[in-house]
Amino acid sequence: MPDTEPKSDTIAAISTPPGRGGIGIVRLSGSESASIATQLVRLRQPLEHAHARLADVLDEPGEGSDSLRVDEALVTFFAKPHSYTAEDLVEIAAHGSPVVLELLLRRAIVLGARLAEPGEFTQRAFLSGRIDLTQAEAVRDLIDAQTLTQARQAASQMGGALSRRVAPAKQMLVELIALLEAGIDFAEDDVDVTPQAEIARRIDELTAPLTGLEASFTRGRIVHDGLTLAIVGRPNAGKSSLFNRLVERDRAIVTATPGTTRDLVTERISLGGIPLELVDTAGLREAREEAEQLGIARSREALADAALVLIVLDATQPLNEEERRLLAAVEGRPALVAINKSDLANCSDEKNYFDDQLKDPASSVRDAGLSVKGTGLSPYIHAAPEVADRAHIPALATSALTGQGIADLRERILALATGGAGAESGLLTNLRQHQAVASALAALGDAGRANASSIPHEMILLDLYRALWALDSLTGQTTPDDILNLIFSTFCIGK
Ligand code: GDP
Repeated sequence: MPDTEPKSDTIAAISTPPGRGGIGIVRLSGSESASIATQLVRLRQPLEHAHARLADVLDEPGEGSDSLRVDEALVTFFAKPHSYTAEDLVEIAAHGSPVVLELLLRRAIVLGARLAEPGEFTQRAFLSGRIDLTQAEAVRDLIDAQTLTQARQAASQMGGALSRRVAPAKQMLVELIALLEAGIDFAEDDVDVTPQAEIARRIDELTAPLTGLEASFTRGRIVHDGLTLAIVGRPNAGKSSLFNRLVERDRAIVTATPGTTRDLVTERISLGGIPLELVDTAGLREAREEAEQLGIARSREALADAALVLIVLDATQPLNEEERRLLAAVEGRPALVAINKSDLANCSDEKNYFDDQLKDPASSVRDAGLSVKGTGLSPYIHAAPEVADRAHIPALATSALTGQGIADLRERILALATGGAGAESGLLTNLRQHQAVASALAALGDAGRANASSIPHEMILLDLYRALWALDSLTGQTTPDDILNLIFSTFCIGK
């Protein structure tokens, strides 16, 4: 019987990161991988599927004496289709010396292997149909994960969570297409034409889960990419100190002289598993010197760009004009107010504060007791009454010095970041996936409108096929080659 299977070439790469380590792995995939491995190292036992075999790495190819041995390695062979790529695959685990690994790789190429492109092992797993495109993307996400939550999310997608979530809607869509096609093909044979209401019901039924899936992109993107939180406020309010509290290290310089944080200091933290980039900005105020002006200009940019804003107020100071403007400027944006130095705004201040305020006819302090109700802030925190009036910007009292309110601050930032949404599996995590689902929904919307306007079923079918094509592109079935190549080129070599 002739061998009709298409022969792919055998690829090789060092799959462990560059540099020295305890172990380094050279990986081979393709029909020749076992025969290349056998010539590459001196095996002490023949290769067998899923068994590790001891082997000597010799500095000269072929049979040599022990004096030529440069390393000892473990060689594991996986016979197709039970391997990562669904092809014959060999992993040679040597000691992690770049010299030995490069020797193995160079020799593998002399023996007929080709240097693997980035992501080519995963691409082969995809092309063989062992995994779909969302699972392949999850492999990359898992490798890139910076937090455990990201890793969990990627692992669940790698297990097919996203594809499983789409499957029922896709099934319904295929059934609807079949129903309409049958109505057209057998129109003369008395096959009932599907009533308009039935088509509408079916479109609605399959649109609902896809709408939910599309909405999951908000959380998926946050888990995948993280968010930026800009910490803003007047000089000396305690921004850098709060930043350090959140980072839990002394990263920003803290001094008692206003205006010292001239440049932006950023740090990535993991808050509840969500990567959060904190940006400590220069104090917003009229700058006295050029360097400070630059810092303030950058702070304004950071404030404009950040997804979340933390406004730091000084509990010992009444609100100033700049702070009022800031509070007004963030209206409608996800923002939080930290009334810091609450340790200083202690009860002994309370009497003086009320005395002062009562003398001021414009003060809202007469009903301050009422207006701070519900915020958990005491009226002796000077900014509290005015902040409380802006009930839509949540405020809390903190002390970067004593740590009071910091745990609460973390929780509130997290809630703000996730929009309070809990964990769910099968999220859309990248723009490509989101676009696929959004296009499917748009096509379904068109189909629904066409149906409502009693447009012939042939035309409705065109929209439904567009929706199906979009859903198929999510899992990679109809993704054009150039896009596939683009996706896999973002992987590391050896994966
Ligand atoms: P920034 O200019 O807003 O970044 O303020 P810093 O973080 O540099 O703090 C200015 C000064 O206030 C420093 O002397 C800090 O030690 C002090 N400070 C910051 N937060 C608190 C706090 O919660 N309580 C007290 N008592 N002092 C604080």
